[in-house]
Amino acid sequence: MSISDHVDLEVGRAGWREEAACSGLDTTLFFPSTEDDQGQLSVARQVCAICPVREACLAYAIESRQTVGIWGGATTRERRRLRRRWLERARRAS
Ligand code: SF4
Repeated sequence: MSISDHVDLEVGRAGWREEAACSGLDTTLFFPSTEDDQGQLSVARQVCAICPVREACLAYAIESRQTVGIWGGATTRERRRLRRRWLERARRAS
């Protein structure tokens, strides 16, 4: 069982990255030097908010435990929280 079993996405779909709204943008926007940079975080989140593959991106980042960057509009700290919640739900369901 994985996170992608629990969210509405097509994480297995080949080439989801090709549809990314951030494709062609400066990648440093999504890898701020600090997660406390609210200005940069806000711009990255605006791009993620309109991204057609946001859920796939977020699930990928959580499952592969990406430790840096903004993925699916979520910071590393936020992804850790989401992962903990998912693990708790999975434990309760088993
Ligand atoms: S959700 Fe954000 S980081 Fe992920 S592919 Fe889309 S624009 Fe890029």
